[in-house]
Parts: sequence; C-alpha cells; structure tokens
Amino acid sequence: MRPPHARHEENDMRIYNTLSRQIEEFVPREEGKVKMYTCGPTVYNFAHIGNLRTYMMEDVLEKYLRYVGYDVTRVMNITDIGHLSSDADSGEDKMLLGAKREHKTVLELAKFYTDAFFKDCEELHIKKPDVVQPATGCIDEFIKVISSLIEKGYAYLAGGNVYFDTSKLKEYHVFFNFKEDDLEVGVREGVDEDGNKRNKNDFVLWFTKSKFEDQALKWESPWGVGYPGWHIECSCIAMKYLGEYVDIHCGGIDNVFPHHTNEIAQSEAYLGHKWCNYWFHVLHLNTQGGKMSKSSGGFLTLSKMKEDGFTPMEYRFFCLLSHYRKSLIYSEDNLANAANAYKKLKAKVQALPEGAVDEAGFARYKKQFTDALDNDLNTSLAITALYDVLKAKDIGGGTARALVADFEKVLSLGLFEKEEQKESSGGIAAEEIEQLIAERAAAKKAKNYAEADRIRAYLAEKGVTLTDTPNGTTYKIG
Ligand code: AMP
Ligand code: ZN
Repeated sequence: MRPPHARHEENDMRIYNTLSRQIEEFVPREEGKVKMYTCGPTVYNFAHIGNLRTYMMEDVLEKYLRYVGYDVTRVMNITDIGHLSSDADSGEDKMLLGAKREHKTVLELAKFYTDAFFKDCEELHIKKPDVVQPATGCIDEFIKVISSLIEKGYAYLAGGNVYFDTSKLKEYHVFFNFKEDDLEVGVREGVDEDGNKRNKNDFVLWFTKSKFEDQALKWESPWGVGYPGWHIECSCIAMKYLGEYVDIHCGGIDNVFPHHTNEIAQSEAYLGHKWCNYWFHVLHLNTQGGKMSKSSGGFLTLSKMKEDGFTPMEYRFFCLLSHYRKSLIYSEDNLANAANAYKKLKAKVQALPEGAVDEAGFARYKKQFTDALDNDLNTSLAITALYDVLKAKDIGGGTARALVADFEKVLSLGLFEKEEQKESSGGIAAEEIEQLIAERAAAKKAKNYAEADRIRAYLAEKGVTLTDTPNGTTYKIG
C-alpha cells in the first residue's frame, strides 16, 4: 500500500537501497522534506576524478530530489582527523603523512585541500551542501556520544583506546547480504590485528595511545588526551544537523564496509532506533589498470585532466552517460569520445531559438526525463531524453529550448554557457598554478621526476616560470 504521504504517481522516485539490495520507492519520513547525508573527502591530497564521480552522482540525486519538489537539507563532513591509512583502524594517520610530505601543519593541509576540493566541485557544477562540517569542529559531540555508548555498555576501554563492542548488537552486519565481491575492487589493505579488540570487527571510537609521537591534533577527553576514530564523525555530524533520523545517506561503494556498517552500529546503539532508511552508493571509477586510489598516488586530478585538453563539463557528461551503479572505466579514448559528443550536443543546444512553448509537448518530454530519473536515477536515459528533444519533429525550437533549460536544473552540463574566459595573463588561473605547484612537489617527493618536469614544462608553455627555494616554489608570469 502506498504510504499516506507519498507523492502523486508520476513523480514516484524509485531508488536502489543497499540495505535491502532492492530498488524501492523513495519515501522520506517527513512529507516533502529530505534529510540527506554525504560522506565528505579526506583532505590530505587532491580529490581524484573517481572521488569526483561519486560527488557528481550525489549532486544529481540531490538536484533531482529538489527538482521533483522536495525541500532537501544536505550535510557533508570534512575528514580532517582520525582517518588512518587502513580502514581497519591501523596504519598511519593520512593527515599527518600529508602534512609531513608538504611541510605544512595538519590544519594548513586541511584548508588547502578543502579549498581545492570545493574549487573542483564548482568547476564540475557540484552544488555545495547546505552544511559542510570539518570533524575538528565537533570534538564535544564525539565525546558526548562516546561517553553515552560506554554508559550503555556498547563501548569499552582497552589499551588506552575506546572501542565499540560489536558483540553487543543483535545484528552488526546490517549490509549482511553484501558480498565482498560486489565491491569490485579490494578495499582492505594491510590489516594489522589490534590485540586490544575483543571482537574482530570492533572499531576505535577514541584513540589516546597514538602510534605517532608527533600526532599533531589532540584533545582532552574523559579517557585521556587523544583524537577520535574516523567512523564516529559522520554519525555525530549527521545527528548534530539532521537530528535523530537521516532519509538518505550517500557515499562511494568502498564506504559500505567498514565505514557505513560502523556508522549504523554506533548510531543505532546510541539512538535506540533505526537511523537511516536509504543507502545510496556509487560504484567506482577505475582505470584500465584497476582501482584509482588517493593513497596509492597513481591517480588523475581534475587539473591534470584539463591539461590533457578536457573540460570539467566534458567529464561531467562522460560520468552522466553511465549509470551510477555500474563501475566506470576511465581511459583517455573513452573520455575523448564523450567530449566530442558533448561539443556537438552543446552546439545544437546553443543553436535552439527562443520561442513559444507548447505545454503539451513540454509535458510529454518532461515525463520521459522524469521517468528516466525516477528509475533509479538513470542519467543515461535522461540524456537520451535530451537527445530526443533535440531530434523531435513534434515540438518547436522554443519548446525544445525550454525543455533543455528545465533538464539542466538536474544535469548541470553547462549547455547554455558560453566558452570560459581564462583569468590570468598567462592564460591560466592563479588557483590552477598553485594546484600544479603542489602536484609537482608531490611528484618530486614520490621521485616521479618525469611528472615534475612535465608540470614545469606545461607551466612554462603558459608563460609561468617556477623557482625552487628552500621555503618552497615561487612563480612568475610572463
Ligand atoms: P576519500 O576522500 O578517500 O574519503 O573519498 C571520498 C569519496 O570518494 C568517498 O565517498 C569514496 O567512497 C569515494 N571514492 C573513493 N575512490 C573512488 C573511486 N575510484 N571512484 C569513485 N568514488 C570513489
Ligand atoms: Zn562517513
């Protein structure tokens, strides 16, 4: 039976829910309102275009929910502490490693890469969430929830750290049917056993015994000076801004386990009820050689992609041509094909005349578009609807133009934008120069001198001269 607050039938959105492993009708708890949570980036390096695929598909989801009339509140965390190089609480602190590599403090590093992330998002037309909260700003909330979990018997102290006790739950593995094969790529690298854990899947809520003598960021807590684990931040940040319930929680497929599994465990133990009804996961962007990963270093950034001659909108188009629940293989040839198609599409759209809009024709093609996106956010079919509008013989140019403008509220492909103006005298924007200097420093650190030289040569071509000094690299234009 349809719940009483379901919207009218034409607008029924159906979405795959990782919890049930089924496509379900999307019905938020409160009529007309959607509370959406997105796991944000770990800011120790640039986002790679795989990360950006995930944020782009989440952006389409948010915009579509708004398009069909929901009032959406979307919250995102910024992981600027506590994420170790293995998801299983072992290995080194990613932020600390990054800060050492770049001779920055952890907070400088976080600010630099947070800014770089939102600049990438802006270029890709990814809307900034309503709330963006760095983990370092919520220490009191983490301490409150961890204290309560200890009181309720869901957490214990061992070897100086606080652990969540997974054996206390009726059901720990909520994504129980999720086969590890479905991850398509391995996610757990070099897991060291932690002797303090009572159960294999227990995870750290608060570290006081830092493995790193020079751990940069530490806070007082009832359990000693230390820092929070990674998983607790998302539960607490979601609760702080969205209250006790989340309608839809998003992330990349690698987040299913352990991150989202642990988020559910601690949130539901704390709240005493089900926390989030729908889980939306985006499959990975892989290279022909396999996984694209931030920690492995071998990854492609948006600025490198631009150097290779592609625009952010061409990349957005490339991503939207595929369904979010299929992994996508990146290759320069695949992207070049999409880029060519995008250029032709944009030229056709720009040639559409302004004119009268035929309401019935408009409604017919709009229905094709909403049917596509109601069907588990099928962006590929939504783009087919766009092409059908351009080919249509039964509507005039004015109606077609109005339809494309309407679809653009969700797709955000920049189809009406005129060519971008370059901002600086070197034909390259200052932020891009800074970003490339940082990429070159990282390449040198990784002894990838060919890449470092390539970046220097690329900048020289644009009239930008680099000078290396003991305090870093400076540049001059002209
Ligand atoms: P991170 O900054 O590493 O925490 O990752 C940010 C987001 O990107 C998370 O939602 C990840 O699940 C997602 N992600 C990581 N690798 C990929 C990839 N190769 N393709 C698509 N999404 C990814
Ligand atoms: Zn998260």
